[in-house]
Amino acid sequence: MHIEDLRIQIGGDVIAEGEAGFTDAHEGFVWNGRKPQATPRVIIRATSTADVQAAVRYAAANGYRVSARSGGHNWSGIALQDGVALDLSALNAVSINRLARVAEVGPAVKNLDLSVVLTAEGLAFPVGHCGDVAMGGYLIGGGFGWNEGTWGPACHLIEKAEVVLADGSAVMVSATEHADIFWALRGAGPLFFGVVTRFWLRLMPLPPAMAVTTWTYPLARTAEVTASLKRLANVLPSYAEVSLSLAAAPPHLGLGEAKFATVILSVYGGSLTEITGIARNVGDLLPEAPLTTMPVTPFDFATLYSIVDQSFPDGARYGVDCLWSQDADTTFAGLARMVAEAPSPMSNAIGVIYGRNSALARDLPDAALSVIGPVCGIVHGTWTNPQDDTANLAWLRDGMDQLSPVIIGRYVGHADLARPGWMDDCHTAHARERIIALARTYDPQGIFAGRHVRDAVVPQSPALAAE
Ligand SMILES: Cc1cc2nc3c(=O)[nH]c(=O)nc-3n(C[C@H](O)[C@H](O)[C@H](O)COP(=O)(O)OP(=O)(O)OC[C@H]3O[C@@H](n4cnc5c(N)ncnc54)[C@H](O)[C@@H]3O)c2cc1C
Repeated sequence: MHIEDLRIQIGGDVIAEGEAGFTDAHEGFVWNGRKPQATPRVIIRATSTADVQAAVRYAAANGYRVSARSGGHNWSGIALQDGVALDLSALNAVSINRLARVAEVGPAVKNLDLSVVLTAEGLAFPVGHCGDVAMGGYLIGGGFGWNEGTWGPACHLIEKAEVVLADGSAVMVSATEHADIFWALRGAGPLFFGVVTRFWLRLMPLPPAMAVTTWTYPLARTAEVTASLKRLANVLPSYAEVSLSLAAAPPHLGLGEAKFATVILSVYGGSLTEITGIARNVGDLLPEAPLTTMPVTPFDFATLYSIVDQSFPDGARYGVDCLWSQDADTTFAGLARMVAEAPSPMSNAIGVIYGRNSALARDLPDAALSVIGPVCGIVHGTWTNPQDDTANLAWLRDGMDQLSPVIIGRYVGHADLARPGWMDDCHTAHARERIIALARTYDPQGIFAGRHVRDAVVPQSPALAAE
């Protein structure tokens, strides 16, 4: 198929390298200010499933690989590849079936937008922790969002999805239709071998009361705080979530570059009275004499996003990695050491312990999402000057290497996928073998095998034109 035929066939834009608009489309493809070294031959902005099908057929006919991009928020910038870069950002419709409690959402629908629509209907979904992240990559990677202790990983609330396969066909996948593709869809991340054009998501009732409170300590007290968090993890109900934020204080507090360990409690409960009681009990179990505490403050998701998103400014340069472990002491001590030594004061880390009441501590449904640990750590290296890339990446990678004795896996949504072998850590060996076998069945040419997964998925395939 010639590119001019493609332009006639599809409703969206087709921008070849060198054409007007290509530079801006290329620059904006990945949200991270630190862009990967990749230049697509063609950027295609799909406006419908039919556009996606035409784009995939065009790529197959011309020997290009295809890379789907829903929101471009993968930290490693993997949506930007050298062949056909398929921008799905126009697929952002949401429609709610209130009676059935199901939402039909396009892959580019963002956490904030979905939560606002659902809140108005008295409904909810485990949307991710930042407002600007899109459903596509979030759900396909697994999706760890608000109230995950009760609602579990978001991918397990996918009822069905529409997927365009390597031959250009569009199929519905669910527990009963193409169940093998549905298995992979829930957690394969960048190893997934198709393009999702629509999801149908099971919705939850909006909790009657949601509130947050915090306790802030000097970073040097992280070990003490960790000891309390370990005790708390197994006594809290599933709907009370505690996370540990290790970071400098926001500039408006005027605390300079000092670093702090802040315990954040968010509760999705029955009433504010109940939440206040839980917060009091948590406060009693935490170390004495915090520097500050925040009173129990009711929130809706939009308000929560307006606060959290300030930690992830647009245009900043990010280097991010994560780990699952079974050892909160070593993990949180390592994260605190990294934050203390970070070359950039903007860098921060998050730690969470999933206690016995959390949905994440139970056996998960069988799916590609197959690695979760009781302890999670995420490091967000954040800086602004390109000249600081080397120092910040070295700090991130050295710090994570020091934690390697306790690492039992990684989450594909946050893993530093530019590092060789990191993708392997994101699934069990069994799940990975099954994903790869399915990829070879449904995508024998490896059209969807991006640079970080190519060797695994298509070791013997002939080189495609985009390489
Ligand atoms: C600020 C920030 C906060 C985050 N918070 C959370 C969080 O709270 N919880 C969490 O779980 N994760 C979180 N993440 C990680 C995020 O969910 C993943 O990085 C995810 O990939 C981003 O989705 P995206 O659609 O923007 O991905 P993109 O960058 O658009 O795509 C990444 C890859 O996903 C695949 N992909 C994307 N869309 C499709 C599609 N429609 N069909 C097939 N494959 C597709 C492709 O392989 C693509 O290369 C966060 C990321 C950021 C930047």
